[in-house]
Amino acid sequence: MPLRLFNTLTGQIDTLVPQPGLAPGPALRMYACGPTVYDYGHIGNFRTFLQIDVLRRTLLLLGIPVRHVMNITDVDDKIIHNAQAAGISIGQYTAPFERAFLEDLDALRVQHPEQLARATEHIDRMVQLVQQLAQVGAAYQTEDGSWYFRLASFPAYGQLSKKDFAGMEDGARVDVDEYEKDSARDFALWKAAKPGETSWDTPIGRGRPGWHIECSAMSMEYLGDTFDLHAGGEDLIFPHHENEIAQSESVTHKPLARHWMHVRFLLVDGRKMSKSEGNFYTLRDLLLKGYKASAIRLALISVPYRHQHNFTFDGLVEATAAIERLRTFHQRLTQATLAPGSNPDLQAAAAQAHQTYIDALSNDLNTAEARAPIFDLVRAANTALDRANTDPARLLADDRAPILAVLAAFDAVFDVLTDTDADATRRALAWARETSRLDDVAPSVLALDAFTDQAIDALVAERTQAKRQRNFARADQIRNQLAENGVLIEDSKDGVRWKRK
Ligand code: AMP
Ligand code: ZN
Repeated sequence: MPLRLFNTLTGQIDTLVPQPGLAPGPALRMYACGPTVYDYGHIGNFRTFLQIDVLRRTLLLLGIPVRHVMNITDVDDKIIHNAQAAGISIGQYTAPFERAFLEDLDALRVQHPEQLARATEHIDRMVQLVQQLAQVGAAYQTEDGSWYFRLASFPAYGQLSKKDFAGMEDGARVDVDEYEKDSARDFALWKAAKPGETSWDTPIGRGRPGWHIECSAMSMEYLGDTFDLHAGGEDLIFPHHENEIAQSESVTHKPLARHWMHVRFLLVDGRKMSKSEGNFYTLRDLLLKGYKASAIRLALISVPYRHQHNFTFDGLVEATAAIERLRTFHQRLTQATLAPGSNPDLQAAAAQAHQTYIDALSNDLNTAEARAPIFDLVRAANTALDRANTDPARLLADDRAPILAVLAAFDAVFDVLTDTDADATRRALAWARETSRLDDVAPSVLALDAFTDQAIDALVAERTQAKRQRNFARADQIRNQLAENGVLIEDSKDGVRWKRK
């Protein structure tokens, strides 16, 4: 089944298919702009990476292999400035933030790309691209030794953002990487070194790359002159992606990417979540407050990428409850003792849920419409499991596999059934201890260290044994001790279960 996805370049929903006949094979080649590792990412950044994970996993679910490249911007103005202030190299400065970024991706169960590309490891390729641009008259050097892209040399500028830059002033320049104005400017490709700054000695002079040239050089290095899809947050459409197109296409005369996907912002009270507004939460902030990584994942992917998403704590609470329902049902269905036979209504409901789910994802990654039929199916199956042994509408043995298969397809993209939440929170707690950030940590999080999964299993087993020996005082004591530390025990006809609040 093909994936239909909105394409910023054409302004319409296009079918996304790998370009045929290209080495190294039929994989869909995609490039996603990665983080600038000058600080910890906020959950707005992670909304974008999570939605790209939804894209990646949907492609895989539909049987389309992917080759996914993401850059790590490990040199820019802020990094150089902060490293200088701390008296360390930029590599020493960025390493812990890059590590934190990858750990946060893992906590959120975001699949890693096939290729991570650090800017500082591709300087030669960037220099080469600047030289090629100079050869075709699209780049020029200023007196201080910096290189700029000559916008007047690229009349197609504005095709992605649909901005009309007619009449722009030739030679007006900007040397910062991000600029908000609607007016186009010649932008920096290479910045000459100022005294004391980190720099590279190269054939185009001593200096360092601009941000935009990084992505042009690294995407073409790994994916070729034209690749299938380029993705990022909506703020990257202009100027970053316009500039990438201008740099690459001036040299290759081929389209850089055939399809452009942009994830709309995570908002707080109607405003973009951002470092500069100060209205942000990092993943670690939320984990230490006691929210689960799986709930953050589900909340951030449940609003489709084409819509802006207003972040609320209520949304996290809703997601926590939804995951709990799914995990409890999954365990119940896996363990239940079922009578032989099959229930045609449930079989039909499972097939219908699966179809609606796949259709919604294939239709521009509509995650909200995709998850709804799954929860409907869970409700229907739970009701059928509750029915008496003689009831013809009950769930039977042959219904188990098809319903589990629907859950597996759901989880191939949503990935919330496997519980790695405690591990993620425990890692955040270890980090908080190392960096002395224990002020705002929830008691249930602090209890994680004492009550590991193994320790809880042992206490639960001891309680079962105590009950068997009719030592109800000890059994109650264990239940209360666990409850005080955020662990709930549930006795059901299918056995004893525990869960963290
Ligand atoms: P940065 O590390 O600032 O380069 O950003 C990494 C990614 O996060 C980029 O693709 C941005 O477009 C994206 N981004 C930044 N802020 C938000 C936000 N509030 N909501 C969604 N994506 C964002
Ligand atoms: Zn980029």
